[in-house]
Amino acid sequence: MATPCTVCKGSAKHRCSRRSEGVDVDGHPTSTWYCGTECQKAHWSIHKTECKSVNLRKHLYRAGDILQATFLAHTRTTWNYRIVNIERGVDGRLQVHSEQKYTEHRVAFQGAHLSAIEQGALLSHHEGVTPTSEMGGAIKQALAGTVVNLEESMVIPKGASLLEWKARPGPEEYWVMRAKLADGSLWALDLACAKYGTTRPVTPWMTFVDERVTAIIATAPAGTTERMLDDSLDEIMAKHKQSGIVDKLSKDVLCTDSFRQIARYVLSLTTSHEDGHMTLTELAKLPNKDFEAAKEAYVVRYAHTFNTLLEGAEKKDGLSAAALKLRIGL
Ligand SMILES: [Zn+2]
Ligand SMILES: [Zn+2]
Repeated sequence: MATPCTVCKGSAKHRCSRRSEGVDVDGHPTSTWYCGTECQKAHWSIHKTECKSVNLRKHLYRAGDILQATFLAHTRTTWNYRIVNIERGVDGRLQVHSEQKYTEHRVAFQGAHLSAIEQGALLSHHEGVTPTSEMGGAIKQALAGTVVNLEESMVIPKGASLLEWKARPGPEEYWVMRAKLADGSLWALDLACAKYGTTRPVTPWMTFVDERVTAIIATAPAGTTERMLDDSLDEIMAKHKQSGIVDKLSKDVLCTDSFRQIARYVLSLTTSHEDGHMTLTELAKLPNKDFEAAKEAYVVRYAHTFNTLLEGAEKKDGLSAAALKLRIGL
């Protein structure tokens, strides 16, 4: 049977073509169909609000796709965990054994033989704060014009992680974004969700809280974890000035800082109009037929540019020393 016209239920001939329409709350494509322009015009005053919402949602879901793929490329590129062995436990979960020794030199990602979701889980495992502390710039850019308010929430997830990291158990709690759209709806943006076996970074906030969260520990304006990182850096600098010593924990923070600094720079390079690139917002608004390929190309460009810049910094000094030099202005 032909699709019925939304207004008169006659056979529909075309759909509302605003940015080829959007997605429903679960992210599935949705369209509004009409028999002709008369019915469409008559319906506009009613459809206007919903039309805006489905298109806002579509942009949010698209931005979530771009950001999650970029996050996984980011953690793969900055990978510095020396894994000794990965084996499967009797419960089917992966057991990961790594060296305890701190390393500020990157190593090749050792999970390439795992399934896509398990690779995602491994790449997300210690990265509960990376989306907000190192990818803040990308998140802001991708959601520009779509989100009217953005917050960071620290949550304790429901259920077990797909993997168990023996020597370095990650903290259970991690940070997700809470985004408010212009239509008032609230959404969760969870880039590290692969750790818990799901590939959907964007979920209606209430669904997210019901299905994936045991408790919400804190909610703060976007940029809070970046400010926390800045505060830790101030402390490290003060200590370093006094004693000249940088301890292991401080090196970890400096490493994170160098990843953040370089990520910001990579974002500016890979989305610059002068070099013929699109911003992440523009990427998220592409027609359906162009979106996937453009997203893939962006992620490859991001990883390649990031890797090239990191290689330079790392070869010279090691990552934390490079960040320290940057900080104390040597
Ligand atoms: Zn009609
Ligand atoms: Zn519409």
